[in-house]
Amino acid sequence: MEARLRQADKMQALGTMAGGVAHDFNNLLTAILGSLQLAGKRVGDEPGLLRLMRNATMAAERGSALTRRLLSFSRQNDLAPRTVSVNRLILGMGDLLARTLGAPAGGTLELRRALAADPGTARVDPDQLELALINLCINARDAMSAGGTITLSTANAAVRADEIPDLAAGDYVRIAVEDTGSGMAPEVLARVLEPFFTTKEVGKGTGLGLPMVYGLVRQSGGGLTIDSAPGEGTRISLYLPAGEAEPEHESPEEGDTARARI
Ligand code: ADP
Repeated sequence: MEARLRQADKMQALGTMAGGVAHDFNNLLTAILGSLQLAGKRVGDEPGLLRLMRNATMAAERGSALTRRLLSFSRQNDLAPRTVSVNRLILGMGDLLARTLGAPAGGTLELRRALAADPGTARVDPDQLELALINLCINARDAMSAGGTITLSTANAAVRADEIPDLAAGDYVRIAVEDTGSGMAPEVLARVLEPFFTTKEVGKGTGLGLPMVYGLVRQSGGGLTIDSAPGEGTRISLYLPAGEAEPEHESPEEGDTARARI
């Protein structure tokens, strides 16, 4: 997994534009969903009509989910950073992750955690970090159609000057999502941080997952690295500036390696 990606901040304008469109679209979809709900109450139990309305509602809800992704990708200034214990955030995501990922068609998906005893805290918006990790895990699952293992790990990282693109020397918390999936060809790897770049079929991929993750870590004063090679899986490591200690928190389970099979 030697290929390592370097990417400059280059999507601000696109993000602003996408955010404006998404915002207007979201309002329209809210109106459509509201009208469908009202109309639904009046059609009674005509099965054909009800089915059509359910289809329309599902399509509008999918559109709404997409516009929310667009909004979260473009929401440059709306972050609410807090001092976050990364281990606890990850431990708290277990059920949500298992539910979101579901079972792959052709095998078992193992979700592993390899948490450092005390990676400490990071200064980051916890909701957005959760969303970012979910995005990374969904990509990992999609790269493992025959099943495999996703490992979420945490560590302290003392970064030297010029060691990692975008990162000043200093203390960081590293959160890595690693999969045993297909890996990426160099020409895919070179483009994955471009907004709207996707190799997934229409309706499945938006090409906004990794740009959102990248935007979040950059706005939080961190960066990311992607190590990937065809047939060798992918590891995406997020670096977030280490935050202050949180004395009121109990220390996370030492060296947690909990496993969940989904
Ligand atoms: P999307 O998932 O909607 O396609 P992303 O920005 O999250 O958008 O990812 C862009 C592309 O990067 C994906 O379409 C896929 O080709 C590639 N990719 C991302 N994560 C992985 C992974 N873990 N393994 C293999 N390819 C990946």
